[in-house]
Amino acid sequence: MKLVIYPMCLECPFITYIGAREKEIRVWKKWTTIKAKLIQQNVFFLPYPCPEFMLKGWPRPPMSKDMYAKEGLGKIAENVVEFIVRVIKEMKPSKIILIGIAGSPTCAIFETTRGWGNLKRDLVENYLKAELSSRIKLKKELGKGFVKQRGRGILYEKLIEKLQALGITFSCFEVDKHKQNPFEDSKI
Ligand code: SF4
Repeated sequence: MKLVIYPMCLECPFITYIGAREKEIRVWKKWTTIKAKLIQQNVFFLPYPCPEFMLKGWPRPPMSKDMYAKEGLGKIAENVVEFIVRVIKEMKPSKIILIGIAGSPTCAIFETTRGWGNLKRDLVENYLKAELSSRIKLKKELGKGFVKQRGRGILYEKLIEKLQALGITFSCFEVDKHKQNPFEDSKI
């Protein structure tokens, strides 16, 4: 049995930090179509709970990997990793595929977002109360100084380390929501 492990926001685009913009909806539609085909082929799906939602609720301000680490996301990520590893041990899949989200501070596999400043509290308050279109504008200001950098997000850092320590093999790819075909690198 093949097991595909992926972030909850592919299932529910509304849960991303800012909400469901056009690109989140586009990715969700494509993923839903791909999944419908894979279900016919004895592929199982494990969408894991969103660690950022568990820590910060919704909507959340844009935050970097470093900011989330400072606010305690590591502990939540460990609980999610424990859940995923236990499912793997019980289901004993013959093949495991991990899907990451490019740029995510938490769920990136190859490229995450770094940034070392503090949140601008007054701006965050406005952002949290604002409608989606205004959140999109405020996001730019809140994300100033963030940089994309090679490296994993907090959750996949822990999960991949754990799987490697247990000798569990897997393949992985990353969804880039900015791409027209975000699943083109998929090896599913
Ligand atoms: S933390 Fe992971 S599951 Fe949550 S919105 Fe970001 S990429 Fe998706």
